[in-house]
Amino acid sequence: MGIFNTVICRYNEIATKGNNRSMFENRLVENIKIACSSVCSVKISRIRGRIFFYKDDKSVFSDAETEGLTENLKRCFGLDSFSFCLEDEPNMEKIKEMVRNSAPYYFDPLIREKGKIRFRSRARRSDKSFPLQSKEIEIEIASLIDTLYTQEQIAVDLTEPDISIGIEVRETTALVYYATIRGPGGLPVGSNPPLLALLSGGIDSPVACHMMMKRGSHVDFLTFHSFPYTPMESVEKVARLAKVINQWQKPGRLFSCNISEIQKLIRDNCTPKFRTVLYRRMMMRIAGMICDKYNLAALVTGEAAGQVASQTIENMSVIDRSTEKLILRPLCGMDKNETIQRAVEIGTFDISIEPMADSCTVFAPDSPVLHAKLHTAEWEESRIPDLDAALQATFEKIEIVPC
Ligand code: ATP
Ligand code: MG
Repeated sequence: MGIFNTVICRYNEIATKGNNRSMFENRLVENIKIACSSVCSVKISRIRGRIFFYKDDKSVFSDAETEGLTENLKRCFGLDSFSFCLEDEPNMEKIKEMVRNSAPYYFDPLIREKGKIRFRSRARRSDKSFPLQSKEIEIEIASLIDTLYTQEQIAVDLTEPDISIGIEVRETTALVYYATIRGPGGLPVGSNPPLLALLSGGIDSPVACHMMMKRGSHVDFLTFHSFPYTPMESVEKVARLAKVINQWQKPGRLFSCNISEIQKLIRDNCTPKFRTVLYRRMMMRIAGMICDKYNLAALVTGEAAGQVASQTIENMSVIDRSTEKLILRPLCGMDKNETIQRAVEIGTFDISIEPMADSCTVFAPDSPVLHAKLHTAEWEESRIPDLDAALQATFEKIEIVPC
C-alpha cells in the first residue's frame, strides 16, 4: 500500500525562459496530464516554479499507480525531476505527523539491511511568514527522528546520507518526500513546431527523433521502402521503432512511401555513381511535400558528418539544396558510439540491429560519388523525363501505417 498523495514536479530549463515561460509551463502541465491519464485521473496545480498533482480525492497512490506514474513521467520531456510526497497543512505539527507516519517505510528496511544508517533533513520554505526558518525546520525533524530510533541505528550525515528527508513549506501546503527521481530534462513536446523525421530501420534516425522530441518538437515519421526490391517487413520494422520512440510523445504518424518508381527512373537515366545522392534529394522533396500538406515545420535525419558516402559535407550540401525546408541533423557532430549508447538507453538498439534491406541500397553503385557538385546533381536530375509528375504520383500513394 502506498503512502504518498501528491507528486511534485520540478523543471529547469523552462525556468530560464523570459516572456514565453508560461507557454512552456502550460505545455508541460498538459503533457504531465497526458502522462498520468493512462494511470489515474489527477488534478494539477501550479505554484511559482513548481507543478504539483494529486488524485481527484487526494487519496494515496497505490503501488501500481506509483510505478505507472514513475514510468510515464520519466518520459515526459521538460521534467527535470519529480518526487512522490505526503501533503498536508503547512504547520509544524502536521509536518511532524507526516514524517512520523512515513519515516518507518524508509528507515526500517534500511536499518535491517545495514545495521546503522545516516540521514539528513532538507527544508525549503517559500512562505517566509512560516514561524520557523528552513534550518530550524531541519533541526526539528532531525530531533523527531532521534526520538524514533536509537543511536546505534541512526546518525546525521549532511553530505552523504542514506536517506534525505525533503520538506517543502508553501503558503497553503507542506510536503514531505524521501526520493527524487530524475526526469528526462529538455523542453516539453509541443513547445517547438512539429517536425517530420526520415526514419529508416537503422540505429541513427530513431536517436535523432528522440533528440528533437527532447528539444520540444512533436515528430511524425516518414519511411521509404522499395517494394518489391525490398521486403514490406522493412516497414514493419520501422513501425516497431516508431512505437518505441512514440512513448516520449503523443504518438506521431508513420508515413510509408514506396520510392521504387523514382529509383528506377534514376537508374535508367542518370550516371550510376550519383544514384545515392539523387535518391536522397528525392526523399527530401517528397518529405517536403508531406510537410506542406500536414503543416510540419522542418525535416530531421540521422545523418552524421562523414559517416558514410552520402554523408560527406559536400554531399549533404547537395542534398540540402533539393528542398527549401530546413533539414535538422541532430547527430551531425556525434560519435557512432555515443549514438549507439543513446539507442540502447531509449530501447531502439535491439530492433535497429535486426538485419533488413534498406531502400537506399537498391541499385546502389559500387563506388558512389563522395564530393558531388550541385550543378552536376541538378544536370543529372534534368535527364529524368517528367520527374515532377513521377514525384507527385509517388507522393499520392503514400500511406499512413499503424505504429
Ligand atoms: P540510420 O542508422 O538512421 O539508417 P545510417 O547511418 O544508416 O542512418 P543512411 O542509411 O545513409 O545512414 O541514412 C541517413 C539518413 O537518411 C537516416 O538517418 C535517415 O534519416 C534517412 N534515411 C535513410 N534511409 C531511409 C529510409 N529508407 N526511409 C527514411 N529515411 C531514410
Ligand atoms: Mg541506414
